[in-house]
Amino acid sequence: MAVDSSTIEAFRRNLIETGKKELESRLRTDEIMKPHTSFRVGGPAQIYVEPESGEEICDLICAAKAAGLPFFLMGNGSNLVISDEGIDGLVIRLGESFSEIRSEEDPSDPECVRITATAGTLLIRLSSFAAKAGLTGLEFASGIPGSLGGAVFMNAGAYGHDMSEVVDKVISISPSGERKTWKREELQFGYRKSRFMKEGGIVTEVELLLRKGDPEAIASSIREYTEKRTKSQPLQFPSAGSMFKRPEGHYTGALIEQAGLKGFSIGGAQVSEKHAGFVINKGEATASDIDALVKHIQKTIQDQFGVSLEREVRFIGRGFESETK
Ligand SMILES: Cc1cc2nc3c(=O)[nH]c(=O)nc-3n(C[C@H](O)[C@H](O)[C@H](O)COP(=O)(O)OP(=O)(O)OC[C@H]3O[C@@H](n4cnc5c(N)ncnc54)[C@H](O)[C@@H]3O)c2cc1C
Repeated sequence: MAVDSSTIEAFRRNLIETGKKELESRLRTDEIMKPHTSFRVGGPAQIYVEPESGEEICDLICAAKAAGLPFFLMGNGSNLVISDEGIDGLVIRLGESFSEIRSEEDPSDPECVRITATAGTLLIRLSSFAAKAGLTGLEFASGIPGSLGGAVFMNAGAYGHDMSEVVDKVISISPSGERKTWKREELQFGYRKSRFMKEGGIVTEVELLLRKGDPEAIASSIREYTEKRTKSQPLQFPSAGSMFKRPEGHYTGALIEQAGLKGFSIGGAQVSEKHAGFVINKGEATASDIDALVKHIQKTIQDQFGVSLEREVRFIGRGFESETK
């Protein structure tokens, strides 16, 4: 159900009455989400905004809460399928100012450098920053097209490494608008898991600890990973990366291939011919095509092998009852 116009009016009024007229003037109505996602699907967000500071995020959350307006925070849109019918309520996407990177020596360990970056920073840019500075630890992230905030939320990883190895502290804003600083051990990182999945909260800034390394070796690992990705992944098609989490004791791509589903399609959504763990958009896919194809894959794998495939990609918006099941 779309949020009714009186709730949206109350949200706008709350912003104006608290002196945030300029922020209110930046709200966009019925913003089409398709161009904001790597899968290139998704209908309109009822209200959409790109805040430029932590204070603006707090203002938006407080005004939304007071009006009873639900909100969804997105990063770079590289792990999302957004419903064709769109998203009810407010969609917040971190603005361009959230892409700062600073680095300083770590006084407690001369072999380490502390990097502080705001959450909208693209992981690919951060990994390249670290490589140029001769810092090791983020090579695995060189081909992951998400934001730093999204990567912390998902505990993104590749080639046997993930964000939990390099994140030291996180600053977030809770769903009720309070700022909090978390230490690594409080973040409840697991395989594609973090505490933010359970509790919500918007990551605004992250501190990473990276070790000084050999610039040649770092550059060479990045080249190797890039080559592997280019060889094995269908990067020329829109997608959200691997569709499923890896079930224990199995390889998702191999199971899907054994089930004869490689290349199988529903509408414009297809199980990639190059990597069966990827669902791709052949050009005109809708979110419903992707959802139907994913359900078909899950049922086939359950029936043939008794293995339950859990979605890694998050399905968001009207008609998608559960985000991750
Ligand atoms: C070609 C391709 C290859 C990929 N390869 C990999 C890979 O190797 N490894 C891997 O792990 N992933 C991979 N991905 C998936 C994706 O890039 C990661 O999951 C990434 O971490 C998602 O970040 P995002 O900013 O795009 O988040 P989004 O897709 O925008 O959002 C994903 C979730 O994160 C939450 N979120 C986003 N930003 C924040 C924030 N600041 N604070 C709190 N919550 C937030 C959102 O609410 C949402 O629930 C790949 C995707 C593509 C398209």
